[in-house]
Amino acid sequence: MDISNIDTRNALEDLIAGLARACNDAWNSNAKTVKVNTRSKAWWNADCATAMRQYRQSRSPADYGALRRATKAAKRQFFDERIETIATKNKRPWDLMNWTKQRNLPTYEAICYNEAPCNTMDDLWQALHATYNAASDRPVKVEVLEEVEQEPPREWVDFSTAELREELAKCSNTSAPGPDHLTWYQLKKLVIDNDVADKFTKIASACLRSLAQMQRKAALWILGAFRTSPGGGVETLAGLPPVHLHIKKLVDHSFARTRTLLNTHPTLSLMSTRHGLFRGEEFHPCAISSMAPSLQKRVKSSVMDAEANASVVNEPMNPLHEEATPGQRVSDLFGAQITYDLDIPRDKEALADRRNHLDALRTEGGLDPRTVMVAADASVPTDDRLQAIIACTLIHGDVGPSVSRQVAGKATSDDAELAAIAMAVGKALQRPDWDRILVFSDSTKAIKWALDASLHSGQMHSIAICSKLRTWLSDHPDRHVQFIHVPSRLRWDIHFSSHEAATQLKVPQGPRSRTSLDYARKRTVEQMLKEWTRLFQQPEYSGRSFLRTKRKGKPIAPSHLDGSPWLKVMGKSNAHTARMSRSILNHAPIGEYRRRFNLSEEVNCSCRNGGLETRAHILDQCPKYTRKRRAPARLEHKNYLEFLEANPRTFAFPSENPPPPFPKARPKRKPPDQPTRNRNGREVHHRRLAHRMQPDEGLHDQPARPEDLIWVPELFRLLQRDEAIAAGLVFADQQQGAGLLD
Ligand SMILES: [Zn+2]
Repeated sequence: MDISNIDTRNALEDLIAGLARACNDAWNSNAKTVKVNTRSKAWWNADCATAMRQYRQSRSPADYGALRRATKAAKRQFFDERIETIATKNKRPWDLMNWTKQRNLPTYEAICYNEAPCNTMDDLWQALHATYNAASDRPVKVEVLEEVEQEPPREWVDFSTAELREELAKCSNTSAPGPDHLTWYQLKKLVIDNDVADKFTKIASACLRSLAQMQRKAALWILGAFRTSPGGGVETLAGLPPVHLHIKKLVDHSFARTRTLLNTHPTLSLMSTRHGLFRGEEFHPCAISSMAPSLQKRVKSSVMDAEANASVVNEPMNPLHEEATPGQRVSDLFGAQITYDLDIPRDKEALADRRNHLDALRTEGGLDPRTVMVAADASVPTDDRLQAIIACTLIHGDVGPSVSRQVAGKATSDDAELAAIAMAVGKALQRPDWDRILVFSDSTKAIKWALDASLHSGQMHSIAICSKLRTWLSDHPDRHVQFIHVPSRLRWDIHFSSHEAATQLKVPQGPRSRTSLDYARKRTVEQMLKEWTRLFQQPEYSGRSFLRTKRKGKPIAPSHLDGSPWLKVMGKSNAHTARMSRSILNHAPIGEYRRRFNLSEEVNCSCRNGGLETRAHILDQCPKYTRKRRAPARLEHKNYLEFLEANPRTFAFPSENPPPPFPKARPKRKPPDQPTRNRNGREVHHRRLAHRMQPDEGLHDQPARPEDLIWVPELFRLLQRDEAIAAGLVFADQQQGAGLLD
């Protein structure tokens, strides 16, 4: 076995594959099929064997009787001895069934912090965090760090053979072999030989080295950053959350899923009666409910964690509700009586058409005495302490509009919209003489969920809608329900009155407010991002020279969505992404870096000012580069990207070839049904703006030069700069289109 070259992944994989093949071949050539028969028993002894031989020769009934007596005696003797040993000597009754083992509940002491036990994951995390990061968020003098010399990153220390032997010694000789058929016992025999042990350790070290650096390597690969770059900084730039936070998020997600289990699930039978989740025959003997309270406090296990966190979601759910039976669903049986009208207008003309279409429906519905119209809407406040509010408006002929509203607890916007549809359908079905229902909503997802009683967030609302509609639709084949999408930006008629009703009411959350599954999941992601942001503030994580630019005056916070905030606005170019990453991390081919890592090349700038070529010098001072006046590239991310664009050879290795074109990250166009917001966060009315100025005027009179045009995000179009300023759409000192980086 040659292990001289195992540092590349392919060589390592080849070697491991060879080892696995050798084990497999050995198993295939040597393993015998075991035949289990009545004599492969532990009690079989020499007497039984003799009697068996005797009977086989003679085949006489007398010898058969002797065999029976011999086996009976052997069994009795054997089991008496076993019972004797177990009952008096070792007192281990579970030895009678060798497939079970003694299972002691772990009686560990709870970790205490500030003299209080840490019973939840959050407490534990706080204890750990506060113990090791006690100095974080305290005022510090950063200058002292500048005198401290940069230490080289610590190497990954390889495993030693002593470690391998110590760890192996803890493994049981009798534990069942894995798919490779190798037992710990065989491995222990193998590593007695020093050469074998040495090779094993080297392979293990090589495997772990590649695992430990996996995320960092991925980040370096995405960004094209230097190998010396700080790990936290590169993973943040690449949008990869720190592994420990990612794992914590997954654990928190798993707590939210407790509610989604079938109510006879074995895991629930281990929990207490407190949450009332288990509906099976009987609780497991080791269930939390049968533990003494003092024991409950001491026991640590994932079931205890699930118990403690079972109420992060408290909406009722049922993975196998009868309304979701395939072939028996409302949509299966009454498909012809349900229609959807879910057009999403893509431009202004389509939006106007949509308004006309809705107006026509409204008029036609108002004239028909058998038609009832309901519009559902919800409001989810940005303030975490307030509950979501749902509202619906009902209108029938001359009656109405009558508006009703309710609280919806902690919910995402789609959950709340679904709850609003459920309320609207409930109101519409109150009178039996109405045969046609029009349901208006601005959420296509909630409309699609409305008749889907399978497991999803807000499932109970879907079940309520389905069961009510089932009764109503089955009463008469002419009855009909139609779900209609209303773009919220239209502020249309009865839907807008629901919207107003929902947004005007403010109700604080209570301790028992209903929490939806998606809301809980969203919270765990928010917590991860919050913790990541906190970590990112610390120079030990993100690197001391991480360039902290701002967007719209706010520091950029780390995120894993859409790549990362940095990659999202960068567009797709490997060369320029690498330039950005290197300069942000200050691990770039510039003099400052060369001096820090003692590289032999020139460290001073070639401009007339001379001096050390630092990043700050390049961004702010060096006369070799073009930059906008009054737009310091170190502060605002937009200006920083403009600097990179204007100077495409900065932070790159010198090259003969011209630099590739700078990618323009395309500003994300909002779909027209989302209200556009202006700089103050107020909604902007396109119609009103369009009235205030006729955008087409002036543009056709004379060909405008490109620098005279300005991008007005509110109108999605380029306008003459003077006119835009005169109309108050942009500020006079604005240099570029405001929508460039949005
Ligand atoms: Zn210079």
